Amino acid sequence: MAENNALNHDEQFSTAVTVEDFRDNLAEVERRISAAAERAGRDRQEIELLPVSKTVPQERIRAAVAAGCHKLGENKVQEAHRKSEEMADLDIDWAVIGHLQSNKAKDVAKFASEFQALDRIKVARALDRRLEAEGRSLDVYVQVNTSAEDSKFGMPPEELTGFLRQVREFDRLNIQGLMTLAVFSSDIERVRPCFQQLRELRDRTRETDPSLLGPARLSMGMSGDFEVAIEEGANCVRVGQAIFGRRSLPDSHYWPENG
Ligand SMILES: *Cc1c(COP(=O)(O)O)cnc(C)c1O
Repeated sequence: MAENNALNHDEQFSTAVTVEDFRDNLAEVERRISAAAERAGRDRQEIELLPVSKTVPQERIRAAVAAGCHKLGENKVQEAHRKSEEMADLDIDWAVIGHLQSNKAKDVAKFASEFQALDRIKVARALDRRLEAEGRSLDVYVQVNTSAEDSKFGMPPEELTGFLRQVREFDRLNIQGLMTLAVFSSDIERVRPCFQQLRELRDRTRETDPSLLGPARLSMGMSGDFEVAIEEGANCVRVGQAIFGRRSLPDSHYWPENG
């Protein structure tokens, strides 16, 4: 895929239902991750595959867990919280990867082990306070807007350092690195610069002050573009449809500007 310049966002992702279906889809994604890592001269071990289970009902998630998924990403807090309760009998770590309003921080503090879309101090403060009350802590990624599209969530790159200095005050938040959504386009030459920008920003921030970013990981890449993201240094790829199958809800339900 990365050899030509087109990304295929309309791939016919087959819907996984049985444990066997999930094993097959996971093996195929794994093969593609390993191939991309090898092309980039990277160690496969530096790259986490985060399966994204939004919109997928409980029965199918149970099959995915049986096939080996023990950490799941969800875009919406309410959906994630509900699922965490429905499947409390299973060994699953929940990562909230979508935009959060500060009044929902208390829900995240209750059940999530990771939050990947931190972009406002108000939310950081609310999370820290609620986590303290729960006696918990949370791994967080700061979401950066690398596509210069106003309606997309994430903070402007130039505000990152100041933001991280403030976030350092919050003991309950363990900064893991940076997260981004690339521009939604089938043209690699538009997608790749978003990933490159995140990596360069990470590198510069680390040079300025190595204590600001923790392990300084990069969460970038989804079903349509994770191989490009790996070539550009991703440490976490968030993959939904290539594992679970095509979603019926359009992506515009999760982020507004897409097209
Ligand atoms: C849904 C989602 C993904 C995964 O997208 P797929 O196309 O299903 O791979 C990744 N990141 C975020 C923030 C998402 O909401």
